[in-house]
Amino acid sequence: MELSTDAGRLTVITGPSGVGKGSLVRELLKSHPQIWLSISATTREPRVGEIEGKDYFFLQKDRFLQLVSDGGFLEWADFAGNSYGTPRKPVLDHLSQGQPVLLEIELEGARQIRKNSPDSFHIFLAPPSFEELENRIRGRETDSDEAIQKRLFRAREELNAKDEFDAVIINDDLQDACYQVEELMGFTTKKEGL
Ligand code: 5GP
Repeated sequence: MELSTDAGRLTVITGPSGVGKGSLVRELLKSHPQIWLSISATTREPRVGEIEGKDYFFLQKDRFLQLVSDGGFLEWADFAGNSYGTPRKPVLDHLSQGQPVLLEIELEGARQIRKNSPDSFHIFLAPPSFEELENRIRGRETDSDEAIQKRLFRAREELNAKDEFDAVIINDDLQDACYQVEELMGFTTKKEGL
């Protein structure tokens, strides 16, 4: 499925688990509420504080697989023991209205989007170091040891693939990383003192 070129721009943000994609996206949406952020479906259990329909649509595996076979996802992938997918229709609807659309997804899904939508723009968010990332992943007390191991394994794979992306941003300082994403998405904001 190709997305038409005159549609709103589709931006994909990828990066290893724990790198801070969620915080960056929240920050970005605060300054640019016109961006539409896709809400993914997942078979993962909700973490404490996560809200159905806001953070994710939490689905049973059979419902998720039903949506896969009905073509309901623009992309989907298995990650660290769970499945994740981008619901197709809302993304296409917002793009056709000319709105900038943002996906925050892992590497396999980003590759599918790249293939099906060559006009999409792909940003990779990288940690300052692997050690720092490991601390962040281990610091998430809600994840089991097994889940942590899987996430660390996938983190290495994702970091090795960063050259596939249109831009790589190091998340050393959240505000600075956010500013770089804004620029890449074509939202010019004035920095204090300029
Ligand atoms: P978490 O379980 O930490 O919320 O997410 C695990 C990984 O799945 C993260 O890298 C996140 O970006 C990714 N992810 C979230 N939603 C989707 C989706 O719809 N599709 C794909 N491919 N990955 C997703």
